[in-house]
Amino acid sequence: MECKQATQLLSQRQERPLNRGEKFSLRLHLMLCKGCRNFAGQMDSLRAISRGYAKGESPSSEDSETK
Ligand SMILES: [Zn+2]
Repeated sequence: MECKQATQLLSQRQERPLNRGEKFSLRLHLMLCKGCRNFAGQMDSLRAISRGYAKGESPSSEDSETK
């Protein structure tokens, strides 16, 4: 897999679940490629931040939602 495909999969992962093959090759690429690993980390923290904002950034409200 090339970095271009890996980053594409990383952004698609935000919108749809990846299939088994995609997950496997993405994980393999992330193990070998530091650049894409950093990119994946940035995507994850971005998503966490935007989720936090959507929920009003209150960790206690998350508890009441899951129950
Ligand atoms: Zn890469």
